[in-house]
Formats: sequence, structure tokens, C-alpha cells
Amino acid sequence: MSTIDGARLLAKSLKQQGVDFMFGIVGFPVQGIATYAQKEGITYIGMRNEQSASYAAQAAGYLTGRPQACLVVSGPGVIHAFAGLANAQQNCWPMILIGGASPTYQDGMGAFQEERQVELAKPYCKYAQGVERVDRIPYYVEQAIRTSKYGRPGPVYLDMPDDIIRGEMEEADVVTAATVGEPPRSQARPEDVEAALSALESAENPLVIVGKGMAWSRAEDEVREFIERTQLPFLASPMGKGVLPDDDPLSVGAARSTALREADVILLMGARLNWIMHFGLPPRFKEGVRIIQLDVAAEEMGTNVPAEVTLLGDGKTVVAQLNRALDERQWFFPAEAAWRTILQDKAAANAEQVAPMVDDDTIPMNYYRAYRDIEDWLPENAIIIGEGANTMDIGRTQMVNRAARSRLDAGSYGTMGIGLGFTIGAAVVEPDRPIIAVQGDSAFGFSGMEVETACRYGLPIKIIVLNNGGIGGGMDALPTDKPIPPSVLTPGAHYEKIMEAMGGRGFYVTDPADLRGALDEAMAFDGPALVNVCIDPRAGRKPQQFGWLTT
Ligand code: ADP
Ligand code: MG
Repeated sequence: MSTIDGARLLAKSLKQQGVDFMFGIVGFPVQGIATYAQKEGITYIGMRNEQSASYAAQAAGYLTGRPQACLVVSGPGVIHAFAGLANAQQNCWPMILIGGASPTYQDGMGAFQEERQVELAKPYCKYAQGVERVDRIPYYVEQAIRTSKYGRPGPVYLDMPDDIIRGEMEEADVVTAATVGEPPRSQARPEDVEAALSALESAENPLVIVGKGMAWSRAEDEVREFIERTQLPFLASPMGKGVLPDDDPLSVGAARSTALREADVILLMGARLNWIMHFGLPPRFKEGVRIIQLDVAAEEMGTNVPAEVTLLGDGKTVVAQLNRALDERQWFFPAEAAWRTILQDKAAANAEQVAPMVDDDTIPMNYYRAYRDIEDWLPENAIIIGEGANTMDIGRTQMVNRAARSRLDAGSYGTMGIGLGFTIGAAVVEPDRPIIAVQGDSAFGFSGMEVETACRYGLPIKIIVLNNGGIGGGMDALPTDKPIPPSVLTPGAHYEKIMEAMGGRGFYVTDPADLRGALDEAMAFDGPALVNVCIDPRAGRKPQQFGWLTT
């Protein structure tokens, strides 16, 4: 008779359930899980900080369409990884966190790294379970993976005590669980589909908002057909960008504030009326705006603004229903509508306003000038990771996304620190696509040590640090006569040397005339590279009509 231990049974169960990638940091008591994961054919990526590992796992989950794993040690390892659970929960992204735990027979004794992990994980995930018997591992893994990926996706947690990891059972007695299939895709009620189209037909200023729920449901073909047929103006959320190309003539991203404020009927697809969408309330939205809400989560319907029509179901399936229902109507939003002119004029005015900054070759550079070269240089099929304050916000408007799931950023939770975790996660699961991180200098600092991870695995990521020497802006030199202001970081810090020290290529750019050359050299290099671009510490965004977080 041969036996199997908990570590190997866990690795086998994960592999069976479609987990092909594991990001983590090993140590007591999880070392064996990582070793067996590799033996079972799971790609294991050893990271430098559990936060980054947990961010990498969720980026991998969002991009592959099924939960991927993060493996961490007990106590502090699990606590660090909660950052990723919370972020995945806010983004509605799947992932499975596996935490080692002190042995069950030492519960309450003050064991090494003993912590109330399952209890603490619960508020941050859809499902948290302590594994109390080796033979239950396949059962719990199936339940965790299914819960993570079905319905509104989210993170799950499995707690693996040392004695369960090392515990053994007869291999012949293992009861294999069913393999979790693709999420069932539910349809909206036919009368709601009709009501949605009637509401849109009755609109003077209609608008479609496309969120990352549509990217997750792989609805890009259906959404494209819907927009082509209805000719409705649309706006993407930050990570909904690319479901339809940003440079589609019907995109009104360049007139965002006006589109939101003046729209009278909005079809909200896989997006929430949270802070990112200014809660759907005045002054950012029209008083009494009529909302048609498409979401997979019934409890989301009506958050902040009551929905006139609810389309409850899977994004891909429901938009296909809308498209079929259009056959009977032959309706589209007329080309000569005044609404189109309002939006086009606003977009043109915005472009005109930033044009002088785009063409300003002053040293030190402003953001818009830096983004001019970056956007020209970006490959069509790149996955762009954006992180930082101005760097992310300006980058969202200046870098064009043309494919679904090609933008990852601070997201619904507004997390600084996702940068290199997301970048490495994307590089591991999408080896054929260029992976480009554009980060502020402050943002880079949260996960900068992961450049060692990228170098160790030879991941050809390209990192651009837009370095203004601070959080929101720095100083030309550190003060000697007063305390360093809280937001100030080292002026002109040489972050590219960290990359060089780990074996990658680094570039330091001060003159805009040198930027394109450095970017090209970085791209030509067959490994990780970092281009550190000095930005004027006083550079900012174009003036905004509304202050940040205006409600
Ligand atoms: P964004 O930041 O792009 O606005 P949010 O994360 O706020 O996106 O909202 C995404 C929404 O998409 C969530 O309310 C979630 O329930 C929903 N969603 C997730 N999966 C699907 C799906 N398969 N079909 C439709 N909606 C989905
Ligand atoms: Mg900065």
C-alpha cells in the first residue's frame, strides 16, 4: 500500500481544479506544498514579499479566467497576504490563498507563528476554511475553487496546519472531487431585455459604461457587436478599458466628465457606481439619471442609484440577448444627434488643452510629454500596468488600450503596491505579450524588490518609473534646515540601478530628447529593464473641472 501526504494531495487537487500557477514565499510549514506543486506541473514563482505574491496570483486569475494560487507561511506570511485578499475582493477577482498554520495539536499554546487565520481571513473573502483532515483536502479545494470563480468572482482562503500538510493517508482511500467546470452563464429575463432597449431608445443623451465585469466575462465580441449595431457612445471604466478599443470613434473617454454629467440614460455593464464612478450622483451625474444595470450579482442592483431596469445575469450572455433582441427593432442611435456633437466638441477642447504640454520639451519633463513617447512606443498587444497618482491618472488618458484585459491598475481598492505583483503575474501567464509597468516613484517603492524576482525568472518586463521625487510631487533637493516633508522622497533617486544590480538593464532619462531611444533599447533587451524618467517635481494634471473625490 502506498501513502500520500497532505502536501501532495493538496498539489494534486489544485492542479485538477485548473490551478496552473502558484506565487508565494516558502518556509515552515509550506515548503512541501511548493515542491509537490512543481512536481504536479504547477508553475511556482518564488516572490520576495507576500503582498506581491498575493497580487500576482489575482492578476493571473483575472487574466486566465480561473483562480490561481498564492502560498504563504503561517502568521505574518498570512497577514501580509491579506492585502491581496482584500484587493481581490474589492476588484471581484478570483484567487486562492493557501496559508500554512501552526499544528492543530498546539492550538492555543502560543505556537510558532500561531494566529487566528481563518477568522481573520473571513471578512476579506467569499470562503475561508481550515483543513482539519488530510482526506478532506480534495473536497475543500473543489469548494474553494468553485466559490472563487462562480457568480461574482472573489478570493478564497484555505488554512493548512503543519500536521495536515505532513499527515498521511492511504492513496487508495483518496476520494477525488468533481472537477469544477466553467461558471454557469445565466440569462436576464426577456422582459428586462426589452425594457432595457426601450429605455435606451427613449434617451436623448444615452451612454454605455463598460466595466471590468465585462472583461472578466469575456464579453468583448458581444459588446463590440452591441455598440456597432446601436452606435451608442460608450465610456470604459479604468480596467474596462480595451473591452472596446479606446480609439473607437464611439468612445467618449476623452469627454468623460461631460458624458457622465449630461447623460440621461446610462447602461451600466459590469461596473459599479462606487467612488470611481462618483456614486452616480450629482454634481457628477445628472439629477434623476435613469440607470439600466447589468450585473451578475443581484445584491449590487440599485447601489447608490435605484436601477430603472435590472439585467441580472452573466455579461457575455446578457449582451448576446440584447443583440438578438435588436434584430426585431432595427434601432440605432442617430448619427446626427446633438449629443454626439456635444461630446465631440468637449473631447476636442480637452485635446487642445493638453497639446502644449504634450509638445513641451523643457527639462525636467512634464507627464504629458513623457507619455507622448511612451504611447508611440507601446506595442499594440501590450498589457499595461499603471500605478501611482498622477502617473496612473494621466496614463489612463494617454495610453491607448485596444484589447480586453490589457490594463491592470490600483483598481476598486485604490491600492498602491500592486505594481510588480501584477506585472510579474501578467508576465508569467501571458509570456507572448509585452508586459509594461508604468509607475510613479512612490508606487515603485512598494514592490521594487520584486525586480529580483523578474531577473531570476528572466521575465522580459519593462518598467517605466515616472520619477517626480515624491508622493504627488517632491523637491529639487532635500531640505537641510527643516524636517523633510512627509510626501518627499529622494530627488532624482537612481531606481534603475536596482534593476542593474539584479541583472537587468537600467536607463536614467532627464532630457525628453533621450526618452524614445532609452525605451527602444529597453524593448530590444531580451530581459527585464527599467527606464527611470525624471519628471518635474511640480508637474501635474491638466486642470480638472471637479476636484478629486468630489461627490
Ligand atoms: P469597474 O471598476 O470596471 O467599474 P467594478 O469592479 O466596480 O468594475 O464592477 C464590476 C462588476 O461586474 C461587479 O459588480 C461584478 O459583480 C460584475 N461582474 C462580475 N462578473 C460578471 C459577469 N460574469 N457578468 C456580469 N457582471 C459581472
Ligand atoms: Mg512620485
